[in-house]
Amino acid sequence: MNINDIPTKNIKSAASKNDVKARLVPNNTTDINDEKYLLEKFIELTRELKRFPAMWDLMKKGRTDPEFPRYANFRRLRSKSRNQSRIADKVLQFCGSLEGYEDIRELCLFYCSEEYRQIFGPVDASVRRDAMPDIDFNTFGVLSSDAVFVQIDEALSVIHGFGDFYLRSAWLYFGSIHAAAHALNLPESLYREALVRHAGVLTPMSAFDSFSDDLFRLLSDGANMLIDMSDNERIALFPAKQEGPSIVKETFVKKIKSWRADRPHNYVPGAMCVELLKKYKRLWSCRRHPGFFSSSPVVETLMKIIPGQRFLQNKASESKLYSVALEIIREYETYRWHREEITKHIDTQQRIIQNRHKSFFNALVLRDGEFCVHCGSTENLEIDHRDPVSLGGFSVIDNLQLLCFPCNSEKSNKTVPPV
Ligand SMILES: [Zn+2]
Repeated sequence: MNINDIPTKNIKSAASKNDVKARLVPNNTTDINDEKYLLEKFIELTRELKRFPAMWDLMKKGRTDPEFPRYANFRRLRSKSRNQSRIADKVLQFCGSLEGYEDIRELCLFYCSEEYRQIFGPVDASVRRDAMPDIDFNTFGVLSSDAVFVQIDEALSVIHGFGDFYLRSAWLYFGSIHAAAHALNLPESLYREALVRHAGVLTPMSAFDSFSDDLFRLLSDGANMLIDMSDNERIALFPAKQEGPSIVKETFVKKIKSWRADRPHNYVPGAMCVELLKKYKRLWSCRRHPGFFSSSPVVETLMKIIPGQRFLQNKASESKLYSVALEIIREYETYRWHREEITKHIDTQQRIIQNRHKSFFNALVLRDGEFCVHCGSTENLEIDHRDPVSLGGFSVIDNLQLLCFPCNSEKSNKTVPPV
């Protein structure tokens, strides 16, 4: 469709009461005003993602799928009173008692208001509500990838089951715990303990210092190979309770040599993925906002791994470790995409305020009076976005208010209703 074919006037009235929104809301579908239609699309995406969509899921889908309504349309499903009447309530209202929506209903029950939970509940008591991820009221979604965290735990526990990889590969190379402990100049009991406890018992690197370069390279390649194996292969190699490896030195060395030869050019060491998962896990506890990726140590590791993404894709079906690392990369990419979008949005919305400052100011004085709506001060009045632009708020009169400089500074990028 040519841009000139779009009847601009209709877009304006169809989209919203302001031109800003109209520009962000192309009429890529005729039923855009129909709430039922939006809810059906929302449910469709929920099923596709197998989780409750977050703001940027909607944004991305709207951008990439021409059949899907643009994000701005969904904003209308939020309550005007911004009293946390969440989209989950709307969805429940829509499909609450219908047959065939049990999956959706179950998801909604975690995110809806208490009132709705009582009507449509009960929620499965085995799932603790406080274990659910933060709900982001401003974007009516939840922080995405809560599932990733659970998978990280699983992946790491598989890996941890194999103890320290250097020690494991030494064990395979020397053929027994006894011989390996002797070669590393360690009491056998300590070596055994190190295998089981994995961390902090000894530093493998220094333990291997006395080895020739060739031998050390062999053992460190062996360590990487162990992580690189499919989950099943590793389990087969080390049966439960450290009964001993099921292969002998010759086989192990042969395996390493063929592994070296087969390594693709975009190879990503498994150890690097372990590092990524651990860093991400540490970050998880303090994540509150989509900006959690910025300036975090995770990004440093991600930068090293991302060039080998294709390798990860090939390995993902065999190894939990690689599939989870891949998911973290995807989440990061979505975050980056969202970040670019929000930067563009902020620029536009601020430019609108600058260009129309005087008329906005006068309109707000007419509506609320010429004072700070928070403390009543008449000094240093500024135009503030109730829903901050950084969280998707628009420069439209409904979303603006006058605040004095101190109140505005204190509010920062939070959504605070006027007193
Ligand atoms: Zn004030």
